[in-house]
Amino acid sequence: MLYQSTRGKEYTANAPRAILDGLAPDGGLYMIPDFSGIRLDLHTLLEKNTVEMAAEIIQSLMPDFSISEMRELCRRAYEGKFETPDLTPLAKVGDRFILELFHGPTSAFKDVALSMLPQLMTAAREKVGLKEEIVILTATSGDTGKAALEGFHDVPGVRIIVFYPNGGVSPVQRAQMVTQTGNNVDVIAVNGNFDDAQTGVKTAFQKAAAGALKPEDGAVLSSANSINIGRLAPQIVYYFKAYADLLHAGEIRFGEPVTYVVPTGNFGDILAGYFAKKMGLPVGKLVCASNKNKVLTDFFETGRYDRRREFYKTTSPSMDILVSSNLERLLYMAANGDTEQIAALMNQLSKQGYYDVPESMRNKLAAEFSAGWCDDARAAEMIGKVWKQYGYLMDPHTAVAWAVSEDYCADHPAEKTVVLSTASPFKFPSAVLEAIGETPDADPFRCLNQMAEITGLPVPRGLENACKAKVLHTAVVEKDSVADYALQKARKR
Ligand SMILES: *Cc1c(COP(=O)(O)O)cnc(C)c1O
Repeated sequence: MLYQSTRGKEYTANAPRAILDGLAPDGGLYMIPDFSGIRLDLHTLLEKNTVEMAAEIIQSLMPDFSISEMRELCRRAYEGKFETPDLTPLAKVGDRFILELFHGPTSAFKDVALSMLPQLMTAAREKVGLKEEIVILTATSGDTGKAALEGFHDVPGVRIIVFYPNGGVSPVQRAQMVTQTGNNVDVIAVNGNFDDAQTGVKTAFQKAAAGALKPEDGAVLSSANSINIGRLAPQIVYYFKAYADLLHAGEIRFGEPVTYVVPTGNFGDILAGYFAKKMGLPVGKLVCASNKNKVLTDFFETGRYDRRREFYKTTSPSMDILVSSNLERLLYMAANGDTEQIAALMNQLSKQGYYDVPESMRNKLAAEFSAGWCDDARAAEMIGKVWKQYGYLMDPHTAVAWAVSEDYCADHPAEKTVVLSTASPFKFPSAVLEAIGETPDADPFRCLNQMAEITGLPVPRGLENACKAKVLHTAVVEKDSVADYALQKARKR
């Protein structure tokens, strides 16, 4: 199977190549050309344990790897790395279910994908026979950075460079990143927001492709952001796993559609849910939940994507995004693979800051997606309410999705609904403590223990360690220097 760039028919790549390259040479994203050829036997798949399930699902999208190879990669990625052997447990909370994606080493859902990506990349490197060093460039809104560092540190043949918005991540998130050990890691603060960091990284890729990286530099760039298809594929798995859990708990009949509400930023997580649906999982609506940066809510409502708006810093920083890269993949599917149309829309977005999709495409999307948003005050209210009513503690990202699910479920009471929980509440202790009516300690790190004492929940070990460890990374760059800084680092051997 050859993946296809969303922006040009002439750019195709097999799975190992697509994983190594991240972006297609024309700036497009690699896409599965056609899901109809993918055959999964849902009955047997849903009976498998998570690691086996992961191997089967990911292999079906990457047939360049054999199933036994993929099983080995999944085992290496996951076994013993998560707090729970089934990786992503499902909790019943009131009339809904919460899919806990945060039991990995950095307490964020990105661990699910970023535990697997280094395995895929190392295997891809072998398959392709690549000699150069792979330099992973990553822009992070908070969680990707640490999860990527955790996955890639000390992996032979790989270097990882992470850019995060200065002041735009939580103190705990920052501590996790700037204390990262490893002889192949760089962590840099950018004076700008996440979109600035992401733009800088994209520019570095364009410059490298245009000749800024020479063969004698001995380095090739790749990405750990969800623009990399190797990031998306592992995320499909937990949609199946949650469905299997509902089935085994007798909550649904086989074949009954399930609604998933997804706290959304770059549109990777929810897109993985759409892939799951395309691969035969009975998914009902996919509900896209945004914070006050509600560019996606407006898009699904009006058909216009418009990034020309104020950027808000919220208590759910991993969703503070105005350019949701993976939406491009959804548009490609909705346009039936019309790459010219997608290239034109993306060009307009970058030049004019907005685009409109045709009415027909908007209706197509509306049949599969719903969208809503919630501000910080309402998210906090949700954390307090769910804690009081059910004794369940949510982080602010999950709370945004919960709020949106309240509205959705009020209109669709009969649908079984799963809310995806993307971070441990311990990653955002001050906001969570305030929301449950406590006064958070002025020291964000003492807050962790405070929260543990008040709630009786244990502090995740990775977070506890990050707060005690030595700061190793202090570099700061201006937003316009991100690309050149990255290239210079990549060249330096
Ligand atoms: C990354 C992230 C999101 C957004 O996921 P996307 O795939 O970018 O849409 C939501 N919540 C948390 C905690 C995250 O880290």
